[in-house]
Amino acid sequence: MSEVQRILDKVLDGKRMTAEECAVLLESYDIAKIGAAAHQIRMRKNDPNVVTYIIDRNVNYTNVCNVVCTFCAFYRKPGKPDTYLLSFEEICKKIDETIALGGTGVLMQGGLHPDLGIEWYEDLLSRLHARYPNFQLHCFSPPEIHNIHLISGLDYETILRRLKEAGLSSLPGGGAEILDDEVRKRVSTKCTTDEWLAVMRAAHKVGLRSTATMMFGIGDSIVHQVRHLQRIRDLQDETGGFTAFIPWTFQRENTALGRKITHEPTGVDFLRMLAVSRLFLDNIQHIQASWLTQGIKLGQAALHFGADDMGSIMIEENVISAAGANTKANEKELRYQISKAGFRPQQRDILYNYVNRELAEEVTTLKA
Ligand code: SF4
Repeated sequence: MSEVQRILDKVLDGKRMTAEECAVLLESYDIAKIGAAAHQIRMRKNDPNVVTYIIDRNVNYTNVCNVVCTFCAFYRKPGKPDTYLLSFEEICKKIDETIALGGTGVLMQGGLHPDLGIEWYEDLLSRLHARYPNFQLHCFSPPEIHNIHLISGLDYETILRRLKEAGLSSLPGGGAEILDDEVRKRVSTKCTTDEWLAVMRAAHKVGLRSTATMMFGIGDSIVHQVRHLQRIRDLQDETGGFTAFIPWTFQRENTALGRKITHEPTGVDFLRMLAVSRLFLDNIQHIQASWLTQGIKLGQAALHFGADDMGSIMIEENVISAAGANTKANEKELRYQISKAGFRPQQRDILYNYVNRELAEEVTTLKA
């Protein structure tokens, strides 16, 4: 029996994979076998007939950023002419458009603005919450919380408690990239691995749930990828606060790092990582197919490699589209792709609760 088969049998038998075994799978080209095992686990863990998706919108409230990430094509240094900071009314207009399309929440993230203290974030959240009391505010990834900490001098827990009181629903898991400082230090001056994890620990402690992400292909090796997965699994053992894990690949266009790294990870690299995440992260309920970076067709294939969720229809996205990922889909298209992969499409909210709304005829008339 091959080593890969032995590891897969062990996981299918309900036992936990070690870091060394994780590395063996990530080195393997036997991706059909690994994908089939990941799919089997996904079918046990989540409703086997259903694939979920969310209608929300990325609102990037500012592109001003006082750190440098060489993989980012979105940020602008403070004081540059093409910087922006959205006004409250501009954000509300985007939320109104999202609600009109059946959306239930907003994923709000921005650059690390040097002048915005905690009061700015509290004011924004409380005004949004007052105007849209049932709309979920999924906002501010760990680097932004760390930035508030640097500006306001408050500890993570105090910041997150105050933001929760102001209306924050949950935290996006962005800014993780590869959770290993050997890699992070080479490509970014933002928060360290320990700081990212400490923000998430504090968020879970004050009762906020969050997602976790990975962006690979930024000069990381399998050793770094395994360390990343291990750190996420360990924190989840401790807190149980992660709702989902979302791996995606570096998009190189228009980035400084993209001039050095001439090849992005391939479709096979993505499917392997997705499947191995499902198998290794036995304590995380949902694995998301990042169709936005991989394209809708590979995203659809991911539904047979361990993913149970298709992510967002993403009405607006500025960060990865600046780096060359210009994939788009509306609700009808997303539902069609899910149906043609053999599942019933089901809208959900940010916390993975099902959302049942009456669908417009043009959304439901699908050839399943
Ligand atoms: S990835 Fe985020 S923190 Fe890094 S430069 Fe871009 S906006 Fe700033």
